[in-house]
Amino acid sequence: MAHILIVEDEERIASFVSKGLRAEGHRTTVASDGATGLDRALAGDVDLVVLDIGLPGIDGFELLDQLRSQGSRVPVIVLTARDSVTDTVTALEGGADDYMPKPFRFAELSARVRLRLRQASPPSPGNGSPDVLVAGGVELDLRTRRATVAGREAELSAREFALAEIFLRHAGQVLSREQLLDHVWGLDFDPGSNVVDVYVGYLRRKLGTRSITTVRGMGYRFER
Ligand code: CA
Repeated sequence: MAHILIVEDEERIASFVSKGLRAEGHRTTVASDGATGLDRALAGDVDLVVLDIGLPGIDGFELLDQLRSQGSRVPVIVLTARDSVTDTVTALEGGADDYMPKPFRFAELSARVRLRLRQASPPSPGNGSPDVLVAGGVELDLRTRRATVAGREAELSAREFALAEIFLRHAGQVLSREQLLDHVWGLDFDPGSNVVDVYVGYLRRKLGTRSITTVRGMGYRFER
């Protein structure tokens, strides 16, 4: 069960999303304007935010911007108008983890919520999964979502952290672009997209240029 914050001013949509998520066993809170939404999101007990863009007061973009600039890495799924490609790009660049074009079926949103929660949730204690992954001088704390390189903190976005996590879990092994795309972005990305290569570039800059080796025709390997 997760606590999901829904920031949406259209009551019909807010209640549709809230009811659906509660039926799946989650706890939900609805905020109908941006300022309230930001306060709730920053309160720290929220596991995921479903965020509308068109909101009274501060809009979804500004909310997201303030949330990220205040250090919150809570996963955010943005609701956008279907024809609004610019909005989507802006949202993803602004730190959203995913987007959902309106109108949508609940099952579509639910699948994205599950994926983002799975990526964000630390492994539960006692199942043998470590809380801290260490390889090649990089340390990832899965509980605090902190990354350190040679003892110094590295600022990773939610997406970069997810990518670093799969690399460290499989340190020394070659991972294909498709594997990385599936794990980090889900199925909603075109396999022809170069998003993996772009993010590997970001990670190299933050974790050290020799941390990730390109294996021609196969993918990438994180060096131990
Ligand atoms: Ca709206």
